[in-house]
Amino acid sequence: MQLTILGKYGPFPKQGGATSSYLLNCNGKNVLIDMGAGSFSRLIKIVKPEDLDVIVLSHFHFDHTSDVGVLIYYFQSLFNKGYDKKPLVICPDSGGALAESVISCPYFEVLTVSGGEITFHDELSFEIFEMKHPVPTIGVKISDGEKTFAYTGDTNLCYSVDDLFENSDLVLADGAFLRKDWGENLPHLSVEHILEFTEKYGNKSIISHINPKYTQEEIEDVIKNYKNCQLAQEGKTYTI
Ligand SMILES: [Zn+2]
Ligand SMILES: [Zn+2]
Repeated sequence: MQLTILGKYGPFPKQGGATSSYLLNCNGKNVLIDMGAGSFSRLIKIVKPEDLDVIVLSHFHFDHTSDVGVLIYYFQSLFNKGYDKKPLVICPDSGGALAESVISCPYFEVLTVSGGEITFHDELSFEIFEMKHPVPTIGVKISDGEKTFAYTGDTNLCYSVDDLFENSDLVLADGAFLRKDWGENLPHLSVEHILEFTEKYGNKSIISHINPKYTQEEIEDVIKNYKNCQLAQEGKTYTI
């Protein structure tokens, strides 16, 4: 399994950056996870959108889905020329104009979920978890039978965070706050929480959804003594 970071910021990017978007390649299958601002042009440097097998959208906040609107235009142009292969889109059932455009999109095979397990072509399994965020949000564990990758989406503390860390090889986690700014009623975890979960479950983690108000040095200073935890780097590919 290989994970490429297309965009690591939220709720908006630093100059030249993009918001949440990740490409997972498992046994030749391409799984796009979230599609935030600026991710479409980075995606097409690596794969053609028609080569995406599955698109997982954790929730319909714009920093995770704003480029899905242009992806729909891309597929519209293909379908107008007779193309008819639809990628599977897994997302929560949610309101709002963008969610409605995706859920009713004639170019996607859409599955709205809040939990449970989905098997794709007997090769990949997707285990879905409900997360703690102001709008319906899913976390996902993706397994190819050998390795398991987990993504928290946006979330604060809840039992699903434990479920995602347990028995996963690598967890891509929402680290939008440093502990000094975190609160239990806020919508995100802190970097320090991710370090604690990574220690507890003995796996590896990548901290993403980086808040542009922090410098890279500020976050790296907090994680520097944790060898199993790293800060997401845009454009980098990680082998799981
Ligand atoms: Zn977000
Ligand atoms: Zn969000």
